[in-house]
Amino acid sequence: MPTCQNCKNKWGWKETFKKTFTTDPAMKCPYCGEKQYTSLKTRKWSLLFSMLPLLPLLLNIFLDISLLMMIGLIIGSGILYICLYPFVLELSNQEEPLF
Ligand SMILES: [Zn+2]
Repeated sequence: MPTCQNCKNKWGWKETFKKTFTTDPAMKCPYCGEKQYTSLKTRKWSLLFSMLPLLPLLLNIFLDISLLMMIGLIIGSGILYICLYPFVLELSNQEEPLF
């Protein structure tokens, strides 16, 4: 779970989950109100993880997966990604450029 870099309080899963869906890159800490940003490490990981739903498409080249099963796998891995995201999220006090 992410820990606020300012007050060192751990954020709850629900808290983090809700903040994940805001378009603002800055997330306000529920404890101290300080702005927190997704760390560079987490952003690199999430970029990799977001490829996960594409895996069933790749698998389809080698295995004969039915369309229904493929859709299920894509949705399933998407849900898995969203649910696991709060566990891998690390916070930073300032916005770190990706490149
Ligand atoms: Zn805080």
